[in-house]
Amino acid sequence: MTSKHPETLALHAGWRRDSATNAVAVPIYQTTSYQFDSAEHAANLFGLKELGNIYTRIMNPTNDVLEKRLAAIEGGVAALAVGSGQAASAYSLQNLARVGDNVVSSTDLYGGTWNLFANTLKDQGIEVRFVDPADPEAFARATDSRTRAYYAETLPNPKLIPFPIAEVAAIGRGFGIPLIVDNTAAPILVRPFDHGAAVVVYSTTKYIGGHGTSIGGVIIDGGNFDWEAFPERQPALNTPDPSYHGAVWSQAVKPLGPIAYVLKARVTLLRDLGAALAPLNAFLFLQGLETLALRIREHSRNALAVANFLAERKEVTRVIHPAYHTGIGAERTAKYLTRGQGGLVGFELAGGADAGRRFIDALELFYHVANIGDARSLAIHPASTTHSQLTESEQAATGVTPGYVRLSVGLEHIDDILGDLSHALDAAKA
Ligand code: PLP
Repeated sequence: MTSKHPETLALHAGWRRDSATNAVAVPIYQTTSYQFDSAEHAANLFGLKELGNIYTRIMNPTNDVLEKRLAAIEGGVAALAVGSGQAASAYSLQNLARVGDNVVSSTDLYGGTWNLFANTLKDQGIEVRFVDPADPEAFARATDSRTRAYYAETLPNPKLIPFPIAEVAAIGRGFGIPLIVDNTAAPILVRPFDHGAAVVVYSTTKYIGGHGTSIGGVIIDGGNFDWEAFPERQPALNTPDPSYHGAVWSQAVKPLGPIAYVLKARVTLLRDLGAALAPLNAFLFLQGLETLALRIREHSRNALAVANFLAERKEVTRVIHPAYHTGIGAERTAKYLTRGQGGLVGFELAGGADAGRRFIDALELFYHVANIGDARSLAIHPASTTHSQLTESEQAATGVTPGYVRLSVGLEHIDDILGDLSHALDAAKA
C-alpha cells in the first residue's frame, strides 16, 4: 500500500482478500490455535526464527490486520492489539520499567490511567512522577538515571489543551528516553510520531471503534527510536531476558526490522499477562476504522458548532474547547490541531453542581454515560460521577469544577444536538 492517506489506509492496509476463499471482508478467525506445518516449523516459530501464528493469546490473523492498519495510519512500523486501553497503557510502561525504575508522566490523564500509575504500578515497584505539561522542562527536571519513559495524552480532558509532544519528545531523546503518547482523543487529527513520539497507545474503545460496542486497545511502535543509543538507560531491551533464553531484544529482533519494543511486549507481556483482544472485537474495530477519518471530521465540525453555541448562552460561564483557548493553549492548538479539534467540549454552568445535575437529567438525545468517542452524543457531570470520590480542591486540580459538564459530541444532525442542549440549559436554570 503506497498511499499515505488515512482514508485509503483504513480501507486497504494489511489486507486484500482471503487467499482461500477470495472473501473481501476480513474474516473473524475464531480459533485458539494453529496447526504447525512440521516439527521444524513449530521450533522456528517458538524460537522467533520465523514469525507466524502459534496461539491466539499472542497473535491472531484478524487482530493482525487491525494491527497493520493502525500502524500504517499512524505512520508506525508495527502494533500490538490488546484487550483494553488500560492494558495498552500498562503494557507500554511495563515493557520498559522494572522494580525501582520510574516514569515521568503528564498530570493531565484519564482517571483510570491516573489510578493505574499512582497505585497499581506503584505497588509493582514502578514509580510514576507526575509533572505539569504547561512546562515541558518539568520532564527533564523529574528525570534521573532510573527514568525509563515519558508518558502523556495528546488531548486530555477536561482541559483539552494539546500536549507539547515535539518539545517533550526532544527532551527525552537527549536522555535516551522515549515519549509514549495516548492518542485516544485525537486519531487522524494528530500523528504523534510526526512530532517525535516513540510509541502511541490507544483505547480503541472510543473513536476507532466509534460505535460503543467493544473494549480494546493498541500499542503502536514508531520504529523511530534508537533503543541501543543509551543501553544503560533501557536495560529491558539491552540485557539478556531470562524469560526468552537470554534474548537481548534490541539485537535478537534486528533482522525483523525496528520492532524490538513491540515484539517484546507481545512475546513477554501478552504471553504472560494475557490481556488478549478477542478476534470478534478486532473485526468490529476494523469496521469502525473504515469510517474513522470521515467520522472524526464530522465530530470536529459538530463539536465546534456546539462550542460556539454554548459561548453565546448566558447560563454558561466558560467553554472549554481547543478553539476557545488563549495563551499557551491557543499556541499548542495552532501547532498540533491543524486537521480539526476533535469531538470533545467542556463547559461550566453558572449554577454549579445543582445546575449540572439538572442539566444532565433534562437531556433527551445525549446519553448520560462514562464514555467518549461514540457515534452518539454523550454527556457526563464529573463532579457527581467520575470525580465524586475527590475533594473539591482535588477536583479543581484536575480541571473539574462543580458546574463542569463534559460532552462527547456525536454525529446526529447539528440542529438536533443544539436543540437538546438548549432545552437542557433552560431546565438547568430552575
Ligand atoms: N485512555 C483514555 C484517554 C481514555 O479516555 C480511556 C477510557 O476512557 C482509556 C485510556 C482506557 O481505555 P479502556 O476503557 O478501553 O480500557
